[in-house]
Amino acid sequence: MTGLNLAAVAVVSLLIGGTPAFSAEPVKSADIAHHGLKASDFPRWHEVVPNVYAYEDTLITPDFTFTTNSLVIVTTEGVVLVDGQDNETRAKALVAAIKKITPQPLKYVVIASDHGDHVGGFPFVKDAFPAATFISTTASLKTMRAANRPILATEIVDYKRTLNLGGTEIQILNLGRGHTGGDLVVYLPASKVMFMTELYDRNIFPPMITGHPSEWVATVKKAQAMDPTWVIPGHGFTTGTAAELKADLAEFLKAVELVVSEGKRLHAAGIPCPTEKDCPANKQANWGPYANSTAAEGQAPRALARMYSEIDGKLPK
Ligand SMILES: [Zn+2]
Repeated sequence: MTGLNLAAVAVVSLLIGGTPAFSAEPVKSADIAHHGLKASDFPRWHEVVPNVYAYEDTLITPDFTFTTNSLVIVTTEGVVLVDGQDNETRAKALVAAIKKITPQPLKYVVIASDHGDHVGGFPFVKDAFPAATFISTTASLKTMRAANRPILATEIVDYKRTLNLGGTEIQILNLGRGHTGGDLVVYLPASKVMFMTELYDRNIFPPMITGHPSEWVATVKKAQAMDPTWVIPGHGFTTGTAAELKADLAEFLKAVELVVSEGKRLHAAGIPCPTEKDCPANKQANWGPYANSTAAEGQAPRALARMYSEIDGKLPK
């Protein structure tokens, strides 16, 4: 998204002024450039609560750059990493950061999102910490096999697994499908930190290329019902107060719900959207303020096409 689009926010808000469901506030941006940051300012990380670090590196596209996030949990019996980065350089930077944060070895790696931008660098993490155990869902394992990715996961969590390391309880939870179909959430009940991976892409238009739109809504609601204090996104900034992170999750959920409702409305009206590239329905869609969220231009027709597939019963069972 360009600065010009941001400038257009006020105008768009006026145009949709008649739609009461949308707030007049412009949607915030996940683009690092809009926050005065450059790719060279990353990676960076911060301690969310004692011994729990949110780690950000970059996903760079010609149109925008936003963060790809990992979670690093340090205990006296080793480290747990949730989600990685996309390539060798970023994986090695992540390894270096873990070593800087703690002398403890990496014990577990949770593959919460199976997409390339989160797993591509894992072979280099494995090289640095050969004893680490990788965990994923059966669904993600299948996806990674189909994508010809190195299969590092040796343990499966399809419902729930609790790790107890050095007195820290770490819950690995499958709360339902959303972004990938194999989504895992990691929750620390003592500090109420929840790493939501790509079920929460903060200030970004819901990326649905492999999504399950209606189930995604239910999965996020399940996560919210657990009443986490800190909700950490898989993309988009991990910084801000707990209240801001939560408010932006509620906002993101509204955008996912809008994909579902606009998809149903336009499908019922008979406006076609057979593919993201051939989606006349997208021109008729009212994305409200989310038309200005980061990556909206590319993601909106993709999400709509996916929602049409859901309505037509064509999504993977
Ligand atoms: Zn991603």
